[in-house]
Amino acid sequence: MLEHLEKIRSQALRAIEKSGSEDLEAIRIKVLGRKGELTSILKSIGSLPAKERPRFGQLANKFKKEIEAALERRKAQLESGGQVQQIRGLDPTLPGRRCHVGRLHPVSLMMGEVCSVFERMGFSVVQGPEVELDFYNFEALNIPPDHPARDMQDTFYVDDKVLLRTHTSPIQVRTMEKISPPLRIIAPGKVYRCDSDVTHTPMFHQVEGLMVDRLVSFADLKGILTYFVQEIFDKDTAVRFRPSFFPFTEPSAEVDIQCVMCRGKGCRVCSHTGWLEVLGAGLVHPAVFRYVGYDPEQYSGFAFGLGIERITMLRYGVDDIRLFYDNDLRFLEQF
Ligand SMILES: [Zn+2]
Repeated sequence: MLEHLEKIRSQALRAIEKSGSEDLEAIRIKVLGRKGELTSILKSIGSLPAKERPRFGQLANKFKKEIEAALERRKAQLESGGQVQQIRGLDPTLPGRRCHVGRLHPVSLMMGEVCSVFERMGFSVVQGPEVELDFYNFEALNIPPDHPARDMQDTFYVDDKVLLRTHTSPIQVRTMEKISPPLRIIAPGKVYRCDSDVTHTPMFHQVEGLMVDRLVSFADLKGILTYFVQEIFDKDTAVRFRPSFFPFTEPSAEVDIQCVMCRGKGCRVCSHTGWLEVLGAGLVHPAVFRYVGYDPEQYSGFAFGLGIERITMLRYGVDDIRLFYDNDLRFLEQF
């Protein structure tokens, strides 16, 4: 009899612990209802030997109260929001800890976007070494050792013949050496110059583009770069081409876009001109073709280069290039 009573108690308490709010009433009826398990036992106390009755009665009543209390407790727990297990020291009302999800760096994001615009126009992506020979970085690009344009680029030299590339243009020379025209490539990557302030870092990212075929003209250059700029910024962004000089292109141009901050009205970012320089470009110089064995009488082409950090700054309104390399999560998480 005692064993039976203990069994009813432990089964009832376990069922309550696991129950949902809709089960509680069923458990109560099963155990404490008019025909419930415990109720039947209490009714049968009369049939026990007289000296056992008080002890047994007391125990049965104690269990009854225990089960009633457990039912109440469980009910309150379910109503107060969920079936959180009661663990000492756990406060289920505290907000959870957020997992930090990694994401792409803004420069990588923009690099991917720039590449995908050109890939849609049939350009393929090629890579080249960051530690480069002087020949590919300067000489084959029509910049001989005594050329004043070498002063335009403060170079990190490893030794007389080896340096950290100052632009991604050597990749176009390396590619033309290997592949005959027609070709359309873009070459993204890191470049290095001895320079550091709010708009310059010693390492930054460039994308260089090259297209060579028969009858490629300045009109192709204008069409492709205008499409590119309008894909990256806005469909109605105005573009202008300004005459410029690069040793490896002739004619050469700087490409300006209407200021994205003031829409051409004039502001601090565009030095009140309404325009922002974003690209350098031009038709490939015949001397460069001769270095790689292309016949400049048969083929023509254009090349262009742009700084990814600069485009990223304009696109997202970042005013200090060094923020990209401080690794401050508060900054990086915004992209
Ligand atoms: Zn402006």
